Amino acid sequence: MADTPKYIFVTGGVTSSLGKGILAASLAKLLQLRGYNTIIQKFDPYINVDPGTLNPYEHGECYVTDDGAETDLDLGHYERFLNVPTSQSNNVTTGRIYETVIQRERKGEYFGKTVQVIPHITDEIKRRFMLINENSTFDIIITEIGGTVGDIESLPYIEALRQFRYDYGPENCLVIHLTLLPYLAAAGELKTKPTQHSVKLLLQSGIQPDILVCRSEHKIPADVRQKVARFCNVRLEEVIENLNASTIYEVPFLLKKENLDTVVLKKLDLKPKQEPDMTVWKKFVSRLKNPSDEITIGLVGKYVELHDSYLSIAESLKIAGAENELDVHIDWIHSEDLNPENRDRLLGHLDGILVAPGFGERGVDGKILAVQYAREKKVPFFGICLGMQMAVVEFARNVMAWPEANSTEFNPKTDHPVIDLMAAQQQVHQLGGTMRLGSYECTVKRNTLAHNAYQVTRVYERHRHRWELNNEFRKQMERKGLIMSGCNPDNDLVEIIELKDHPFFLGTQFHPEYKSTVESPHPLFLAFVNAAQLRHSDVSQETVLPEANG
Ligand code: GLN
Repeated sequence: MADTPKYIFVTGGVTSSLGKGILAASLAKLLQLRGYNTIIQKFDPYINVDPGTLNPYEHGECYVTDDGAETDLDLGHYERFLNVPTSQSNNVTTGRIYETVIQRERKGEYFGKTVQVIPHITDEIKRRFMLINENSTFDIIITEIGGTVGDIESLPYIEALRQFRYDYGPENCLVIHLTLLPYLAAAGELKTKPTQHSVKLLLQSGIQPDILVCRSEHKIPADVRQKVARFCNVRLEEVIENLNASTIYEVPFLLKKENLDTVVLKKLDLKPKQEPDMTVWKKFVSRLKNPSDEITIGLVGKYVELHDSYLSIAESLKIAGAENELDVHIDWIHSEDLNPENRDRLLGHLDGILVAPGFGERGVDGKILAVQYAREKKVPFFGICLGMQMAVVEFARNVMAWPEANSTEFNPKTDHPVIDLMAAQQQVHQLGGTMRLGSYECTVKRNTLAHNAYQVTRVYERHRHRWELNNEFRKQMERKGLIMSGCNPDNDLVEIIELKDHPFFLGTQFHPEYKSTVESPHPLFLAFVNAAQLRHSDVSQETVLPEANG
């Protein structure tokens, strides 16, 4: 299409957690299926330069892109829905905006002027709105503004949006406002007042939203839609119902039913190029919603109270399960709770064990116990990043008989530092963007579980770590059965480990969960889920056979 893309902004009103990310991803999917090259970016109003330094309890998982950006977890939704990679420019925070402006000020680039929120911060926000298109030619750019309208910290974004829309032309720039219609049981009614107030707040900032997407737990009756339209200055067709869905992957269908995509195209003066072909998506959702069996995976981690901390892992498991019509039930196991006494009880019923990534010593012993259980009882095992490192430590301690073996992250003085700080990390003292981040090549060894899954010998996977398998101990461990099935071709860093004589025991230094999408489930997650399914059917065979025979 034209080299000037159309812009859609998504703002949120009434309350947080209404699902702006899912709305943006679902709309983008519909527009993509209609033949428009669509991308999504997110602007977050917090002061951290990126979420890399945030504790997962604060903000859920930190999602990593190919170019090594540590970003908001919504980018994971964007990639899983759109099946196109995102990058550093897809996620911008207030911290990054200020960092740029302050650096410019220090260089004297403002020529002695007073540097202010308006125009300097807002100008930088507007520049960033467009930066994503610098080396691409998107037809449509969807920009999600984090936070809720009315928040002090969102104000510069709303002001930048007002100016941008005015400069860029309202016919090229839409604002979709996501709000809530709460249901009052006592009155038996959906209430519109919070939405009216939220739109008034936007109007105070000079923005009339073009479309209102209304989250609701009940179908929105015609008179309520009419009321929202009348009080908020939009047409009836521009009030879109957004009911709770049984899975986030169903949201594109719900929004299509409400004609969100056609209303958007009409308002942007774009012709629908084609009917969206939803076949692949439909098949996926149907498998997801109609599983023929269920498997249980134990996810062992230390942030399990907040499931969003492991969002991409959980979604990757779900996506891999759907491929085989399996419902993957996740048993969230707190690694700090695991001990030798309760180990059998907490892990005995599992079809597969996944030991999660992490930083710091808390819960590490539980992770090692879970690895040992999976290795000894031949339960399918998948270790990711710290999970892989703990698999190596467990092997060193219990197979190599090096009882003090450890990662130097937890014991810098150990005699057997089987996991050690990478050479390139020795001089790093600053946090934030300093880990080994992003996509690196990995050569996969033939005749291994990994090769069986990938079916190719060269893959690229995303990383986020400082420690690595110490090659000094590699030969000795290989002799005892630890297989290094994937290595970086440039520096020989071990990327994948596995075990012989085990149905499925595999650990990756990288994070495969960042690359699993609906249209392209990750081969290692597929292989792990398959192995778990096999174990599940073996175990159920054992339990039903005697009766069946009898
Ligand atoms: N803490 C480990 C490291 O930095 C593992 C990191 C992770 O699991 N992402 O190497």
